[in-house]
Amino acid sequence: MRDEYDVIVVGAGPGGSTAARTAAETCDVLLIEKRQEIGAPVRCAEAVLKSALVGLVYPDKKWISSYIRRYRIFAPDGTMLDISAEAMGIEGELAYILERKIFDRELAKDAARAGADVMVRTRATGLIIEDGVVNGVKIKRLGESLEVRSKVVIGADGVESQVGRWAGINTAFKLKDVGIGVQYLMTNVDVAEDSCDVYVGSRAAGGYAWVFPKGEKLANVGLGMPASMLNGSKPIDYLNKFVSKQFPEGQQLGLIMGSGPSSDELKTVICNGLMLVGDAAHHCDPLSGGGITNAMEGGKIAGNVASKAVQQRDSSVRVLKEYEDTRRGSLFGKLQKHNYRIKEFVVTLSDNELSKLIRSLKGIRPQEINFASVVRLVAANPKVLLVMHDLARLKELADALTEKR
Ligand SMILES: Cc1cc2nc3c(=O)[nH]c(=O)nc-3n(C[C@H](O)[C@H](O)[C@H](O)COP(=O)(O)OP(=O)(O)OC[C@H]3O[C@@H](n4cnc5c(N)ncnc54)[C@H](O)[C@@H]3O)c2cc1C
Repeated sequence: MRDEYDVIVVGAGPGGSTAARTAAETCDVLLIEKRQEIGAPVRCAEAVLKSALVGLVYPDKKWISSYIRRYRIFAPDGTMLDISAEAMGIEGELAYILERKIFDRELAKDAARAGADVMVRTRATGLIIEDGVVNGVKIKRLGESLEVRSKVVIGADGVESQVGRWAGINTAFKLKDVGIGVQYLMTNVDVAEDSCDVYVGSRAAGGYAWVFPKGEKLANVGLGMPASMLNGSKPIDYLNKFVSKQFPEGQQLGLIMGSGPSSDELKTVICNGLMLVGDAAHHCDPLSGGGITNAMEGGKIAGNVASKAVQQRDSSVRVLKEYEDTRRGSLFGKLQKHNYRIKEFVVTLSDNELSKLIRSLKGIRPQEINFASVVRLVAANPKVLLVMHDLARLKELADALTEKR
C-alpha cells in the first residue's frame, strides 16, 4: 500500500468494487475492506433482476445459483399473483439468485484486474479533512495505524456507514425507513426452482417473507419488516412461525440477520473530496429492499466522476455534483423516489385491502394495462388513487429499464 492514491474506496461490496474497477481504468485506486474475506459472511437474499444486472456485469454461471422465470406474490387470503417472464414479454429468465460469496469476490477481482490495489483486514477509522476538504483516509491494518492521502474518497461502507458521518453528511435514518431482515438458508424445502415467492401482510408484520430457491431443495427463506413495526416483537419469531407452517420438513444450514435502507433519497451524498455509494448513500430500492444493482450503478457513476475529478485536479462539490445529478436522473434514481411513495402507501394497507388489491391485479397482463383496467382497479381499491401517478411512472420506468439493457 502506498501513502497516496488518486482514489480510495472504502468497502468492497458490490458498490465499492464497481466504483474501484471503473476509476481504476484511468486512476491509481486503493480499495480497502475491513473483513478478512471479501463476500463473506453473506447478509443477503441474493436476488437481482436480470434487466438491472445486465449492462453492469455480464451474467456468469459461476456466481448464479438459480435462474428465475417468475415472481409469485401471495396475498394474506392466499390469492397468488403470478408475474412471469412470458407475461412481461421477456425472453428467458426474469431474475437470478446469486451466490454472493463468489459474486462479490469476482467484482473485487475485476477491480484488481483493472489495476486497483485491494486490501482486506484494512479498516477505515476516520478521514483526513483539511480546510473542509476530504484529502484521504485514516486506516487501521493489522494493528498498525496509517494515513493514506487521496484526491477523492468513495465511501461504500454499507448500511452501517461511518464515512458519511465522519464527513459531516447527514445519513441518519428514520426508524420507519430501516428494514430489519432475518433469513435461514434452508435445505429439505420443496420449492419451485424457477420462482421467487413473496408473502405479504400482517404475517410479515407489514413487510414480506421470501422464498428464493438456490437449487436442489435449498432456498433462502427470510423475512423483512420495517423497524418501526417491531413493538417488542422479533422478526425471527415471525420467520419461525412462517417456516414451521410452510416448510415443516425444512432444516437450517445458516442464519443471518441484517438491516437495510428503505428510505427516500438523502438530501446530499457528496462533499468536497468525497462521494457515498450504495447502502451508505441509502441507494436501495425502498419497496423490495434490493440494493445490489443500485449500489453497482451508483458505483459505476461515482467511479467515472472520480476519474474526471482527478483529471481536472478538482474534487470539489462543483465537479462531484455530476455524480449526484446523474444518479438522480438515472432509472434507479427515479425508481427510488416512486417506490418510496408506493412503500409508504403499501404499509398502510390492512390484510383485507392487500388481498383485494392483489385479487384485482390478478389477470391483468402488464402489456394490457389500459384505461378500462385502471378504472376497474381504482373502483375496487379507491385508496390506490393516492399513488396512481407513482404506479404509472413505475410501469414506465420498469419498461425503460428492460428496454435499456
Ligand atoms: C437480509 C437481507 C436480505 C437482502 N436481500 C437482497 C436481495 O435479495 N437483493 C438485493 O439486491 N439486495 C438485498 N439486500 C441488500 C443488499 O445486500 C445491499 O443493498 C448491498 O449489499 C449493498 O451493497 P454495498 O456495496 O452498498 O454495501 P455492502 O455490500 O454492505 O458492502 C459494504 C462493505 O464495506 C465494508 N466496510 C464497512 N465499514 C468499513 C470500514 N470502516 N472500512 C473498510 N471496510 C468497511 C463491509 O465489511 C462490507 O464488505 C438484502 C439485505 C439484507 C440485510
